[in-house]
This record gives sequence, structure tokens and C-alpha cells, in this order.
Amino acid sequence: MDRPLSEEDRTRLRYETILPVYANNGTPYLCSQEDIDDYQYFSSHSGVALLSLAESTRQLTSFLMAEPSDDIKEALSRLRHARWNSLWGPGIILKALRDIDIAFFNSCLRGKVIVRWSNTEEIARVGSLRNKSDMSGRYLGLSCPEEDLRQVTVYLNAETIFSRPTACEEMWQTVLHELMHAYFIATTGVADGDEHYDSHRQMPNSHGWVYCWLLSHVDQRARAYLDMAVIHPDEDFRLDISNESNQILGEVVAFRSSWRPPRPGLGLRHMYKAISDMLAKKLAK
Ligand SMILES: [Zn+2]
Repeated sequence: MDRPLSEEDRTRLRYETILPVYANNGTPYLCSQEDIDDYQYFSSHSGVALLSLAESTRQLTSFLMAEPSDDIKEALSRLRHARWNSLWGPGIILKALRDIDIAFFNSCLRGKVIVRWSNTEEIARVGSLRNKSDMSGRYLGLSCPEEDLRQVTVYLNAETIFSRPTACEEMWQTVLHELMHAYFIATTGVADGDEHYDSHRQMPNSHGWVYCWLLSHVDQRARAYLDMAVIHPDEDFRLDISNESNQILGEVVAFRSSWRPPRPGLGLRHMYKAISDMLAKKLAK
């Protein structure tokens, strides 16, 4: 169980989010200053090839479906310890990003995705500037592509997260949820499409099935190794990936991975059409 928080605790936690995070102070976590800085500053990505959406999905699917290597298990064990450390503070999530990247995102985020603590006002401003939508929801985080679409800033809302009864759990869930969006943007350079730009946590109908498919695998790994769910019970985007009737989704992901546009420039909409045709054919058998 997470420790109950008083109003003073919540105020102190929000205050701590504006302090810089150093490897040798705050909640202890086995990491170097470089590990922290890699997720606080973008690095040059010259020579890093972008993937197609299909390839990006395929790579992370096989990564998450495979038995974790020893290195990954060690990262998971450090994360488990941090998740259940009753003396946690907001800096712990920034210290843990390197291990989160190793354990859940195949080390694809380093140098491309940075994570910052933020507040409702800043998130509303950034979100409305970038996608012109109404940002007045009860959002917990925002994944926002930079001008260079291979770079993504994830904003964590200290006001909403630390207002929740289960603030610690909410902090971990929100960062994993947002990094799932950030993974797609950073690896593909594609920031449009409802699955890939996130300004909408807690709002209905905002996550596509590829997002749900991959986040369900992240959720499964987190449950197995961290004793923690990533998907909230009242959120609708968990897929039962172990259920046989849902194995068809595996086939859909495979189909999506092998799908190539019949001519350049035909985007996601055509792929979804191709997938629904494939499913219709399968169901008609
Ligand atoms: Zn989202």
C-alpha cells in the first residue's frame, strides 16, 4: 500500500517538483547523473533512422513479448524497489527513467524523450498551442512533439497527480502511459493520429488499438515484475492479451507490421481499411 498523504505532504511534493534532481541527493536510486541527464536534455540524433509505424510497433511487440534478459530483470528489480519505497519523492521518477526505458521501451527513448514536472497552466498552454484542442480536462500528463518530430517532451502534472488519493501509483502509471505515446512519436517522427499525440488522458475514445495493444503488454510486464498495474481499472484500454479470442489482435499487429502502402503517401487510414478487409475475410470463413 502507498502511504496516505496529508495536505502538507501534497504541498511538499508539488514544491519538490521544481527542485533540480541530482543522482546523489533526494530519494536514493542506483543511477548516474548521466542517466538522469539523458532524459532531461535532448541529444543529437544525427544518423538515427526513423521507423515506419508498422516497424516501430513490430519491434516493441517482440521486445515486450520476449522473456526479459538478465539486464532487463535487474532494471525491473530496481524499479520494483523504487515503486514500493515508502519514502518516495517526485525526483524518483526522473531517476528511474533510464531503467523504465531499458525495461519497457527497448532503450529507444534515451536522448529523444525528456520528462519534466509541470502544472495545469503550462500543460494547457503547451497543449493548446500544439494541437489547438481544448486542454481544460483533468489531464495528468501530456506528450508533446518538439519542432523536430523525433524529440518529445513529456509533461507530468504535479497538481493533478498529487491531488489523487493514490498519488504514487498515479505518478508511475502516468509516466508509463505518456512514454508509450512518446515512443511512437520519437521512433517514427509521426505526431498526428489519435494514438500518438497525447493530450487526452482521462478523456474518452482517445486511444487507438495499437496503443492499447502495446500498453497492455507494458501493463502485463509491470504487473508481473513491479506488482503494479499501468492501466487504471476505470480506463477502457486494456486488452486481454492472454485471452485466445484476442489472439486475433496479434494477427492484426503482424498484418500491420507487414503492411506497406500501395503507393507512397497513403497513410494510416488506408492501413486501417486494409485491416478491416482482412478481418472481414477472416470472419466470413
Ligand atoms: Zn494517452
